[in-house]
Amino acid sequence: MSDSAVTAPNPLAPKRPLLMPLAQALESLLTAAEATLPPEPVTTMDADGRVLAQDVVSALQVPAWDNSAMDGYAVRCAEVSEPGAVLPVLQRIAAGEAGKALQALTAARIFTGAPVPAGADAVVMQEDCTVVNACEGGVRINVAPTPGQNIRRAGEDVRKDAVVLQKGERITPAVQGLVASLGLNSVLVARRARVALFSTGDELVMPGDVAPQDMRPGAIYNSNRFFLASLLRRMGCEVSDFGIVPDNREATVSALRDAAQGHDVILTSGGVSVGEEDHIKPAVQQLGSLDLWQIAIKPGKPFAYGLVNRTDGSPCHFLGLPGNPVSSFVTFLVLVRPFLLRLQGQRDVAMKKVAVRADFAWAKADNRQEFLRVRRNSNGGLDLFPNQSSGVLTSTVWGDGVVDNPGGRTIAVGDMVEFIAFSDLLA
Ligand code: AMP
Ligand code: MG
Repeated sequence: MSDSAVTAPNPLAPKRPLLMPLAQALESLLTAAEATLPPEPVTTMDADGRVLAQDVVSALQVPAWDNSAMDGYAVRCAEVSEPGAVLPVLQRIAAGEAGKALQALTAARIFTGAPVPAGADAVVMQEDCTVVNACEGGVRINVAPTPGQNIRRAGEDVRKDAVVLQKGERITPAVQGLVASLGLNSVLVARRARVALFSTGDELVMPGDVAPQDMRPGAIYNSNRFFLASLLRRMGCEVSDFGIVPDNREATVSALRDAAQGHDVILTSGGVSVGEEDHIKPAVQQLGSLDLWQIAIKPGKPFAYGLVNRTDGSPCHFLGLPGNPVSSFVTFLVLVRPFLLRLQGQRDVAMKKVAVRADFAWAKADNRQEFLRVRRNSNGGLDLFPNQSSGVLTSTVWGDGVVDNPGGRTIAVGDMVEFIAFSDLLA
């Protein structure tokens, strides 16, 4: 197809589908994902990667009391304003113990994490002190402290009643630690999305079923199934693999009908164009409704969203990806990923883009928004994979991300471009 279709249509031009901007497709998908999955409790230990279905409010302040950031001696600054002051040490406070108030003109031996005794206003680290009179217990303070020194203040991490985490935040290992520090052993999260996956195509063969030397002419191995299943799991989904569905209407209808039962989403690859061998469109329409979009992206373009009705009449989301492996990979990242994250309650689903210098030229602009497979080099710039064909899966392995290149833009060496790291999309 010519790329002029993204600009205003010429009424005299032959009829061809208008390409939809990616942002518009994304908006429709995110709206469809808005009715999020029901919440369920999960233990803090098992919460990594889940999405909070509740605000987390702190029932206490963290730390609960002023405590020492060092092993050393708790003192009153006013009593040790000159280096070399000697004080008797009347108490020893280890982590987990509560000391007594600091008597005038004394020091307290104190360890990291132990509560600072009332009356003390600084901790002098032990490296700045000399033990004197070991039997009677005294210490020389060699460096005059300043008020507050080496004291971690009560509430400096979290204040009581503060909303520490908000509904819709994705739980990371750091979040798990913070939740645990509030004394919470479990949190409410959105249920995982249950996704049924199948690939369409009579040409597809599963690796292991036929040896490479025995492949019939025209047959290819099913590669999409592997990366799509793993991408789905990285998005926190439970995956049911429905295998390969042949290119005919009955098989496609039957697979869709089965897949809708017990799943929130059906994800397919292949068969979403409108050729005679593309059976997804009529099959989804038979069982529900379908929006077939031609999206103004490269690679990508054909993409389908629809609803497949279950036997009880309730609808299951349907997402159809193009069959070309790189198109499938890219449309997953730019459309399916945000849809699935939002369905599971995640608030922020935007792709993180950073400006990076292109150490390559891209002379031929395309009217579609392009996702060029690139790799960061050791000079802080980006190198381009030489073959950007939508069938060349090597580009996604060699690359560590894509350049999001707006339609119609050429790139000169040294230009700043928008880089999206795969690692930011997969975590
Ligand atoms: P389709 O979207 O069904 O027209 O397929 C477009 C291209 O992608 C064809 O060359 C297919 O053979 C190829 N293809 C489709 N599905 C897969 C798959 N699961 N794994 C690898 N290649 C595929
Ligand atoms: Mg096909």
